[in-house]
Parts: sequence; C-alpha cells; structure tokens
Amino acid sequence: MVADLSRLLSHFSDRNRSVKNWPKQIIADAADEGIKLVAFETYRSQARQTKLFAQGATQLKTVGVHHYGLACDLVKDIAGSPSWKGDFKFLGKLAKKYDLIWGGDWGRPGVRTRFPDEVHIQRCAVSAQRRLFAGTWYPDENYNPYA
Ligand SMILES: [Zn+2]
Repeated sequence: MVADLSRLLSHFSDRNRSVKNWPKQIIADAADEGIKLVAFETYRSQARQTKLFAQGATQLKTVGVHHYGLACDLVKDIAGSPSWKGDFKFLGKLAKKYDLIWGGDWGRPGVRTRFPDEVHIQRCAVSAQRRLFAGTWYPDENYNPYA
C-alpha cells in the first residue's frame, strides 16, 4: 500500500501549507544521499488506526497524529517495493533539519524510547499531542516542536 504522495498530501491541512512540503523536502534530501524514499502513509483514518492497534503496530487506539495531517511515514523504496529494513538514523537527522520530530527518538535524542518508530516523522511534540487530540490546539506556520 504505497501512498500516492500528491493525493495523500491533499489531506494535509490547508491551515499550514508548509506541512504539505516537508515530506517532499526530506525525500529530495534523502535522494541526494543516494537513498530512495517513498511516503508510505500520511493521513490515517480511524478505521485504519483501529486495525493497526489490533495488530500491535501502534500504541494509540484512537486517532494519532497521522489523523491530523501532521505525520508522515517514509520508508525505503527498494526496487519499487516499500522497505523498513536497515538503518533509518539518516531520517532522524533530516527530521531535525526541518524541526520535525522523528519517531526513532520522539524528539528526545539519547533517551531510550519504549516504542521507536524509525520511519515516522511528525510536526508535533509528543508533549503537545494531548492538546492536539483534544482539539484545543493546532500548530501554526511558525510552530517549532523543539522550542
Ligand atoms: Zn507514523
């Protein structure tokens, strides 16, 4: 289920146009390093979240950051097939370059994480997720999850 990037990015909120651009920028940067990436998942429905929770692929039973158009899973494109194999630390570096949170450390480098998700990048600090899910907050254009 490789995502059609342009189609899925249309789900991203118009409230923040830059959100539409960062997955493309990261894909381009990775290509410069000789790594071909593909956007595996951007927007996620509640139905799919429920299914992934049942599979143990996520800790969130209800909608996660993907549901808000603020997250993107970027996997390697190996001969046209999506791949989760190998090292994804380069993705952590690229996420930081754009002030994004990488699922490999959830924005806390050096801190052991209980649930690493090395293909996941989000534009929302973990500490802000509660407010996001409650509908009381949404990142604006200048939001920096590290600030
Ligand atoms: Zn994800």
